Amino acid sequence: MDIIRKVHRLCSCCMQEHDVWVVRDVAKNIYKEQLVEYSATYEYCELADEYLVPEELITANDIAMKNAYREANGLLTTEQIVAIRKKYNISQSDLANLLGWGGKTITRYEGHQVQDVAHDTILRKIDSDPEWYLTILQERKKSFAEVTYAKYYRLAVKAYEETQDAYLRKSIFARYARYDDADCNGGRCLDIEKLIDVMRYYSNSNKVSVLYKVKMMKMLWYADALAYKRYNSSITGLVYTALPMGAVPVAHGLIMDLKGISYEEIEYEDNTAYHFKSDNSNQYPTLTDTDRVVLDTIIDVCGGDTRDQIVKRMHGERAYKETKANEVILFKYAKELSID
Ligand SMILES: [Zn+2]
Repeated sequence: MDIIRKVHRLCSCCMQEHDVWVVRDVAKNIYKEQLVEYSATYEYCELADEYLVPEELITANDIAMKNAYREANGLLTTEQIVAIRKKYNISQSDLANLLGWGGKTITRYEGHQVQDVAHDTILRKIDSDPEWYLTILQERKKSFAEVTYAKYYRLAVKAYEETQDAYLRKSIFARYARYDDADCNGGRCLDIEKLIDVMRYYSNSNKVSVLYKVKMMKMLWYADALAYKRYNSSITGLVYTALPMGAVPVAHGLIMDLKGISYEEIEYEDNTAYHFKSDNSNQYPTLTDTDRVVLDTIIDVCGGDTRDQIVKRMHGERAYKETKANEVILFKYAKELSID
């Protein structure tokens, strides 16, 4: 039994004024045929040596018991349900209506009623998948007042944007799952933070002229290949395949959209060119001094290349010549890289 505090007041047990203890103790209860242990709060009168439980503590203890049951059964607690709803700042009744549940359902789940497993799964999905939440919100647009809908929509979009980068990273990692040997990834698992910093390092360098996507992809390969040649370990962990214009990382399209990479799209003829832009920062928290030395070497050698020049340079590399079209360029060839 832990004493939480003592309150001097009229004791409703002995009807005298004295210090009433507020105590916490482990309680046991059978709920849904299951023994549940939880921490319950009581008041204690020292004079009468009696416990008493005022109305508000009965309520709090019941919710504590239900939450212990929820935790034991892998269900969201009341606090977690409230937090999910607050994330989207939606009212209890609106969330219930949105999900096609009875109007009081969420209110009950945030209190005494333990949610069933199916509903628990849906609430978790709302939490982890703002895109899905956004979709059901759009589908039910007509059931909300215009102003209310606009507020909910704005918050859903915000939550979606915040997790979009997480989705993107997951997709990229999924594409890389099969390449776990050193000959493919240069002895390093894909490190997205480093990748972003390397791309920023190039984009921010005033020694790198007209940096478009094709050139960026080659410069990434050159950096990883040179690091591997020097230290037996690549920098980013990217895996490259041999395409007509040289090395291109797996999932290159997704990489472009990572948060932290800035580029502008330039339309010409029937194509779109991606021009990388400086973000005017010189902070690269993930790059080591060794990484920077490698990158500076690549910038010195290739920074001034035009697209055609760097493609030609790449076509001359043994790594490229020895690799069949669309196959992974193995890092063992980096030992014969033209640089160094
Ligand atoms: Zn008393």
